[in-house]
Amino acid sequence: MKVAFLGLGIMGRSMATGLVKAGYEVTVWNRSPTKPVEGAHAASTPEDAARGADVVWLCLADTAAVEQVMFGLRGAFNSLTEGVVVADSSTISPAATVKFAERVRERGADWVDAPMTGSKVAAENATLIFILGGNTDSIEKIQPLLGTMGKQSFHMGETGKGQAAKLVMNLQIAMIYEGFAEAITLGAKLGVSLDSLVPLIQASMVRSGVIEYKAPFVSKRDFTPNFPLRLMLKDLRLILEAAKESRVKLPALRTVEEIYDLANEEGHGDLDYAATLMLLEKWAGVEVKGASAS
Ligand code: NAP
Repeated sequence: MKVAFLGLGIMGRSMATGLVKAGYEVTVWNRSPTKPVEGAHAASTPEDAARGADVVWLCLADTAAVEQVMFGLRGAFNSLTEGVVVADSSTISPAATVKFAERVRERGADWVDAPMTGSKVAAENATLIFILGGNTDSIEKIQPLLGTMGKQSFHMGETGKGQAAKLVMNLQIAMIYEGFAEAITLGAKLGVSLDSLVPLIQASMVRSGVIEYKAPFVSKRDFTPNFPLRLMLKDLRLILEAAKESRVKLPALRTVEEIYDLANEEGHGDLDYAATLMLLEKWAGVEVKGASAS
């Protein structure tokens, strides 16, 4: 199976590398010059990358990037032929996804929304969880690729439902982390150390996978991006937009979005979203760290 992989960021590079290692013929493309993916062909435009591919896989920042790479000048759309499946692992607007899918179907190709959960480490270890929307036949076609890059897939329904479910997931991740960040900031102010709090949290009904993943990074004050804050902010805006369209009120998430917005303005956008903690610390006049921090 020939795969065109478009977008070699934090997630895409590891995913494309995994496909090459599994023996697929992969052609990669990235907007800005980047180091090669060993064993893959490199194309100079999305159109060139997608020519002759059976599957075009996207892993791009946002809705505008997907539109540009697919339908812009020298976009992948120009190379789509009957039977090609476009799989989109970017987190983008569910409504835009439906429109993009309609356009590629006019060509006889198909679209599967395939956003993922699991961060940088899951992309490196091929333990991603894919959240799918689209036709069963096309999902079956890309199943070997999903199995190569991830450990599990969930088919949530028709086109756009994968993206909708992904937004529902990230709503929870952002709120759970925010709860943790506020709790450990107050804890530090009250003189309760992070090193004693985390085992207590994880032994109790408060425990969560988000805390399990993030606590070691916070403890070391390592805010290098696994999932950049600017991308979580993009997702929070997508969630609020979807909520507005469907007349659902999300007052707590609106406050969380404001915190991300302010943290972004403070210059933390390219750090991990865990760095929203730094804003709470600034307000409280305290720094949270574990014994492992240098
Ligand atoms: P990233 O490291 O910021 O990479 C973004 C990619 O999109 C890069 O290849 C970038 O190209 C490209 N891009 C951005 N704007 C573009 C444009 N206008 N035209 C063409 N290409 C453009 O992001 P990531 O962490 O890999 O995330 C990729 C997607 O997966 C995002 O939608 C994110 O929300 C989602 N996601 C991420 C995680 C995570 O933990 N990191 C987990 C689940 C889902 P350049 O190199 O030229 O900038």
